[in-house]
Amino acid sequence: MPIAPSSTRGAGLVGIDIGGTKIAALLVSADGTVLARGSVPAPAALGGGAMADAAADLVRELAAQAEVSLAAAGVGAAGVIDHETGTIRAASATFVGWAGFPLADELEQRLGVPVRVENDVNAFLLGEAAADGRTDRDVLGVMLGTGVGGALIIDGDLHHGPHGAAGEIGHTPGYSELVCTCGQIGHLETLASGTSIALRYQERTSAPVRDAREVADRARGGDAEAIAVFDAAGRALALACASAATILDLPCAIVGGGVTAAWDLLEPSILRTLDTDSPVSGIPLRIIPAVLGSDAVALGAIETARRALVPAGAH
Ligand SMILES: [Zn+2]
Repeated sequence: MPIAPSSTRGAGLVGIDIGGTKIAALLVSADGTVLARGSVPAPAALGGGAMADAAADLVRELAAQAEVSLAAAGVGAAGVIDHETGTIRAASATFVGWAGFPLADELEQRLGVPVRVENDVNAFLLGEAAADGRTDRDVLGVMLGTGVGGALIIDGDLHHGPHGAAGEIGHTPGYSELVCTCGQIGHLETLASGTSIALRYQERTSAPVRDAREVADRARGGDAEAIAVFDAAGRALALACASAATILDLPCAIVGGGVTAAWDLLEPSILRTLDTDSPVSGIPLRIIPAVLGSDAVALGAIETARRALVPAGAH
């Protein structure tokens, strides 16, 4: 991998994971060895400039710790991202002054190296698809968190689509009669997000629960209603993955996010569903859990930075 020469221990690549509460960064050497890591609170209420300052300060500190110069930086950021310009197109209300913020330009000015920006779910999938032992070049990514995010890699590269919205599987319809967070009816997210898992359990039992984790604890304790909620989530997830796989000829879906801590509860119904509703191509679809945990977004961001340094088509 060609990397610019440097004065000290070589040139590092940094991946920055920018969320609404935390900015985390991971600095690696050219061969992928982790040299330094750290995180700071995200000043999301103070505007884009403050966020860029916090991220750049963190990166400089890590580079100083590791005694490397920086070759490039990648960012996985919450919100709708124009990945070509690195500008934030839209973001949730948590982020003040984030929509319209030219994040890549602002970070390039502060760090003096090329910066690439991706949506955080896209970065998650890039990281996971490049993890040790993974060889698929066509992969669906699904993030089961507060909501349900999605991403798509086709022939080894992220597929963004003309509006940057490719892979948004969480808001595909037909899985229930319930109202989604987006206002439409029956989306995958109404059954499979962490928020929905807690809500669906409360509707069935009138028992208040804090979150999906508590529903999972109850399911593992034998609570039939809690088990049914996870069965419904797993079935809807598998149907959505099977539809995408059928259309796009995908052999693999990687599922991440907090809800996958309950993979033991999702997997039985995923496997049952794949038995009856697998893609008619006859090519087996694997639906597997993510392996990189909270590092996935930063590692995927590093992958975007690495790709920014090499000619298109060479990776
Ligand atoms: Zn929706």
